[in-house]
Amino acid sequence: MRNGTSWLPLALLVTCVADASDVGSDAYLSGMPKVELHLHLEGSIDADTVVEITNRNELGYFTTVEEIEESLANRPPGLMGFLEHHMKLQNVMQNRQDFYDATFSLARNLHDNNIVYADLFFDPQAHTSRGISFEELFEGIDAARRDAEEAFGVTINLIMCINRERSVESAFEMLDQAYPFRDRIIGLGMDSGPEYGNPPVKFAEVYARAREEGYFLTGHHDVDVRDSLKHIRQSLEIIGMDRIDHGLNASDDPELMAELVRRDMCLTGSPVKRTTDPALQDVDRIVTLDNAGVCVSLNTDDPEEFETGYLTNMLVMFQDASGYSDADMTRLMWNAFRSIWLPEPEKKRFMTQLRDYAIAHDVDWDNVVRR
Ligand SMILES: [Zn+2]
Repeated sequence: MRNGTSWLPLALLVTCVADASDVGSDAYLSGMPKVELHLHLEGSIDADTVVEITNRNELGYFTTVEEIEESLANRPPGLMGFLEHHMKLQNVMQNRQDFYDATFSLARNLHDNNIVYADLFFDPQAHTSRGISFEELFEGIDAARRDAEEAFGVTINLIMCINRERSVESAFEMLDQAYPFRDRIIGLGMDSGPEYGNPPVKFAEVYARAREEGYFLTGHHDVDVRDSLKHIRQSLEIIGMDRIDHGLNASDDPELMAELVRRDMCLTGSPVKRTTDPALQDVDRIVTLDNAGVCVSLNTDDPEEFETGYLTNMLVMFQDASGYSDADMTRLMWNAFRSIWLPEPEKKRFMTQLRDYAIAHDVDWDNVVRR
């Protein structure tokens, strides 16, 4: 729970007092209509569903919620330590029903967070390499997100991701497998790791073909990896991505920030916190980007694998850590809404929900859309 404003530096406190209607409240953030654009299916399967699937499939690991919690608590630091636990989780899913259950239970959690629209990443190669066909995994995910839209009113679009450590041939193979289903997949992304040695330009031809086949393009640019700024520039200038996932090192480079603003390029920030982290990651970077006018949004990445959890909780934690007002928090959410990949009328329908909510709660709209 939040602890009011007692820890805030004096200058920030004065700002908040000067505009009392903007002082943050958990209720405001909780009720806010939300968009999540950076969310991995494989990192978002709630523990109860994991246990149900592992026991059904007699997998012999992650058979209790406690076992999952222990694995999370004891994973090594860094991206590769993260991936060790993450890969065990993704291997839980064996058949269409498992993918269905994982997606449907996630959609329920999204709805509980008042998320009205989400783009969901899935990693086909992590599953096809285990002998599961693209059709099997995709039909499970797709059926669940359609049923969830009917059940909860949450719209979910799908982004398939290249595992960047795998070969270019393997990425092309994934595109081939996805071809019959391409009308039901909104974008192509890139994740996993390590990032250094597997830069965006490695997959330039794959991205080019994906563009021809009608996909929107995005990709991970993890924070503080070697050559991060170079990779972001590759994605802008060579690949022509439509969004940048993470990419928060741009805050180190004023010229790059200006270029992102010029292109109106949106970053999907993810200020997660592990139980072992002293604080939320990258808050200062996100504030720097926001102050420079860069379109940056807040996203949970893998809500079942971080203390930040799902989006409402992350927003509350971020507001505490940044001292942001409700209008500032609404601006970060507005950034997510305006970077949705939907035709303008559909996108507007979502954007109106946030605008109406903010105005009904007396949030200073000029501050939300200050640029
Ligand atoms: Zn991610």
